[in-house]
Amino acid sequence: MTLTPEAETVLKARYLRENETPDDMFWRVANHVASAETSYGHDAVSAAREYYEIMSGMIFLPNSPTLINAGKLKAQLAACFVLPVEDSLAGIFETLKHTALIHQSGGGTGFSFSRLRPQGDKVGITGGVSSGPLSFMHIYDMATQVVKQGAARRGANMAVLRVDHPDIVSFITAKQRPDVLNNFNLSVGISDVFMEAVKNQGDFDLINPRNGKTSKTMPAKEIFDLLVKMAWENGEPGLFFLDTVNKANPTPGLGVFESPNPCSEQPLLPYESCVLGSINLTKMVTGNGRDRRLDRGKLARVVRTAVRFLDNVIDVNCYPLPEVAAATRLTRKIGLGIMGLAELFILLDMPYASQQAVDLTADIMKLVTAEARAVSAELGCQRGNFPAFTDSIYAQQGYSHMRNATVTTIAPTGTISMIANCSSGIEPLFGLAMTRRVLDGRLITSINQVAVDYLKNQGLLNQEIYDQVAASGSVANMALPDKVKKVLATAHEIEPAWHVAHLAAAQKYTDNGVSKTVNLPKDAVPQDVADVFWSAYSKGCKGVTVYRDTSRDQQVLTHGISS
Ligand code: UDP
Repeated sequence: MTLTPEAETVLKARYLRENETPDDMFWRVANHVASAETSYGHDAVSAAREYYEIMSGMIFLPNSPTLINAGKLKAQLAACFVLPVEDSLAGIFETLKHTALIHQSGGGTGFSFSRLRPQGDKVGITGGVSSGPLSFMHIYDMATQVVKQGAARRGANMAVLRVDHPDIVSFITAKQRPDVLNNFNLSVGISDVFMEAVKNQGDFDLINPRNGKTSKTMPAKEIFDLLVKMAWENGEPGLFFLDTVNKANPTPGLGVFESPNPCSEQPLLPYESCVLGSINLTKMVTGNGRDRRLDRGKLARVVRTAVRFLDNVIDVNCYPLPEVAAATRLTRKIGLGIMGLAELFILLDMPYASQQAVDLTADIMKLVTAEARAVSAELGCQRGNFPAFTDSIYAQQGYSHMRNATVTTIAPTGTISMIANCSSGIEPLFGLAMTRRVLDGRLITSINQVAVDYLKNQGLLNQEIYDQVAASGSVANMALPDKVKKVLATAHEIEPAWHVAHLAAAQKYTDNGVSKTVNLPKDAVPQDVADVFWSAYSKGCKGVTVYRDTSRDQQVLTHGISS
């Protein structure tokens, strides 16, 4: 197994135990997860070998909490959680306690604050007035900040507020001050009624969730324009399309989705958790030169192993709360996804910004979801369906078996893609050379090897070109053939419409959500953001986030190599 220096640094910092090698880590994870097989009369040893092989070969990696915690006593293995926030002081602080426990274990938490009465509303018990959702979000943020010092990894939160909540304007503008809510991503919960009102330039009612009464009426466009302006200014809030998400709810009888997890890819019912895992597509290529193609057979085989792996995680996982254990075991949701897509396109000599590539994105997720469902159906037959199956859409659609209420999710793969040395999720390359700010501010630099090899195979690589790529992270301004520039185009050089096209293509064949930032160049105007929002909504995306280059003081990613 060869690891890049970046991967070694990341692993040593948080993932490896004392005296543990990366190889030991993969065996630790493989053995723990495979131990679930024995309760079904299967051989855990051969399953462990299979799991070890796909992980150590960087073909598939589970989400970070599984890598960090597997094998430990009371190991918590899932990355994603959603908790309810009730409109009572006791409820708010009970959820805060639960949040701290989840963060301590390496999980991220999403919440909807929409049920809380607005600021200034009356509080029955005391005769006083409520401080509103924003004030409680600040408390959650502070708690996250404190807990993260001792946690398995940095706690992350998502806050959703419905667009019809009376405090929506304060929510949309909450991050105007750069030093607040740093442990939160914010998304506005958008309804179809709202989008319709924006389109018709109509008025929109803001409703007090305590009594269902209209507390204010505003032009819908005013709210939308403010949202666009803030997202243009600093990338937040994102949008979370509540009606689209709930149309895809596999168990509507169990409740409605109010919020996804922190990076938005996983809508969950209150108290559900989900374990994610991602297949590295750069390892799914067969043939040489012009004959290179996606190895569909291998991809399908890896999906089979990965689904069993993730389903086993649900059995061996030690849940941080009884409510989470119960809700998770009722639906047994798993989220298998992909990473390395941008590099797959380069290996196949295909520009990210092309219809051919968009079709391939759809095709890959179609295959992954179909195969994952087939495995889940087999597991349902052998091991039992998820307990809520009879009330699920699968039973209504005539399926007899399904082990998992959902099978696919596309995660950001922030850390695991670094471990596997591939591009993250379905994102285009951010830069051909890049500097990443990781783990508490340190900088890690790298030049993309797939891009370098591409230039070499085209007979275009020399020292001068190499140095230019390293310095600028891009070939856009270099004297190279047009096709080469297109294949090696980076995130900000790709038109936003292509970003949305890949997001929508992946979403069409993904059960849960898709993590994707629509990157915009720094000279983009607010109307560009509005166009992205509209097109993501009309193409059936579950959510969307934009980020305009340089719009935040401290970016996680920057171009080129800084000295
Ligand atoms: N997450 C978190 N803290 C972090 C990064 C991620 O809690 O610092 C959670 C969050 O729920 C996110 C999920 O992990 O949506 C998956 O993120 P990612 O794919 O980047 O994680 P990886 O498995 O690569 O570490």
